[in-house]
Amino acid sequence: MEHSKITMEKIVSLAKTRGFVFPGSDIYGGLANSWDYGPLGVELKNNIKQTWWKMFVQERLDMVGIDAALIMNPKVWEASGHVATFSDPLVECKTCHERYRADQIDLGAPCVKCGNKGTFTDPASFNLMMKTWLGPKEDASAVAYFRPETAQAMFVDFPNVITSSRKRVPFGMAQIGKAFRNEITPGNFIFRTREFEQMEIEYFVHPSDWEKFFEEWLANMYKFMDRVGIDAARSHNLEVAKDELAHYSKRTVDIEFDYPFGRKELYGLAYRTDFDLSTHAKYSGSNIVYTDPMTNEKYVPHVIEPSFGVDRTLLAVLLSAYDEETVASEEGEGDTRVVLRFKKEIAPIKIAILPLSKKEELSNVARPIAEALAKYWRVDYDETQSIGKRYRRQDEIGTPYCVTVDFESLEDKAVTIRDRDTMKQERVPIAELEVWFKKQF
Ligand code: ATP
Repeated sequence: MEHSKITMEKIVSLAKTRGFVFPGSDIYGGLANSWDYGPLGVELKNNIKQTWWKMFVQERLDMVGIDAALIMNPKVWEASGHVATFSDPLVECKTCHERYRADQIDLGAPCVKCGNKGTFTDPASFNLMMKTWLGPKEDASAVAYFRPETAQAMFVDFPNVITSSRKRVPFGMAQIGKAFRNEITPGNFIFRTREFEQMEIEYFVHPSDWEKFFEEWLANMYKFMDRVGIDAARSHNLEVAKDELAHYSKRTVDIEFDYPFGRKELYGLAYRTDFDLSTHAKYSGSNIVYTDPMTNEKYVPHVIEPSFGVDRTLLAVLLSAYDEETVASEEGEGDTRVVLRFKKEIAPIKIAILPLSKKEELSNVARPIAEALAKYWRVDYDETQSIGKRYRRQDEIGTPYCVTVDFESLEDKAVTIRDRDTMKQERVPIAELEVWFKKQF
């Protein structure tokens, strides 16, 4: 289906009704811009993260993972530049006191909340780090921050990783985890929230090799997008202008995606030079230098950083998978079929087991099938409503295969497998199901 016809309303509503994502704290009237991942959302999110980990850690001999503490020594954020510069320009409407990010609104236009014109304060910088206090004293000595990115732990842990893993440059570290930013204007569903998840890589290279690895990682990012099913036709590179680069970066390419609310950042790829390792060496007093075991050359490795947002991945995956088609078949003449065409690897439910009726003779056959297949794949078991409606529901949540157990199954010991995309049906002996599905996944 043409992607310009896919609206956020459709995605948000499907996400809620089918249990992918719903408003956080819903029974209390919600909490602005907080979202909970439901039973299908958590499966999808886990599959995205596992695919990423498999591709960038497990399948590579030059990568290791870490899982660091969320709250780090506050000196980390002084060294990294976050205390001084991790801020957005904030303006306030002098009439209604609504606050906006100055770079995201037209300062000459009226305030969208109260409609008054020309009433904004001068932009002031607003630090986005979420502050807290460690322990019972709420004074300056106890101030700490929830990490605004997962990256810094990989620099801080560099000496421990090098000595314990015995990795040699070029090599990389990967981490998946939550990050927090006190965004001035969160919004657009899970696109921009104050609590989100990142998947980041710090790839350490010899300074003279950075350009080669930058190109290699840009290509790797697109390979990942293809593997999870993000539409390449809707994805674009944006070379960040020199005067807009972050303080640590010599080159940044943002990968942008065409969301229904416009073309905006999905991922970022940055060449961070030796900025982080060198500043942490300076601030901590540690000696962070790498010695090449072959040449004995001593240097501070340079860093290529591919950075992926989990939540934005999930949104881009949902938008890429969403499809509507009119079907004229025995499953409903002239019906609109909503299908999430997920890649099989990331579909939250892989197989639905659907006994034709609730009769015990059928569930006696269907339940053991579900239990056997659930050892390998996430399975759904559903025995209510008409079979047509149950197929529609599975299409809407992107289940690649439905297995129907009917009265004939009692005689021929076989079941019907229906393919989500082609809607073609195939009769397969129950005894061969496991082998049949192992060929598909
Ligand atoms: P933006 O310009 O959209 O604010 P950014 O350039 O500040 O993003 P980075 O610091 O490069 O983002 O963070 C890396 C990735 O983390 C982003 O590409 C995005 O996928 C994700 N991300 C960043 N901020 C948020 C947020 N508030 N909510 C959800 N995901 C986010």
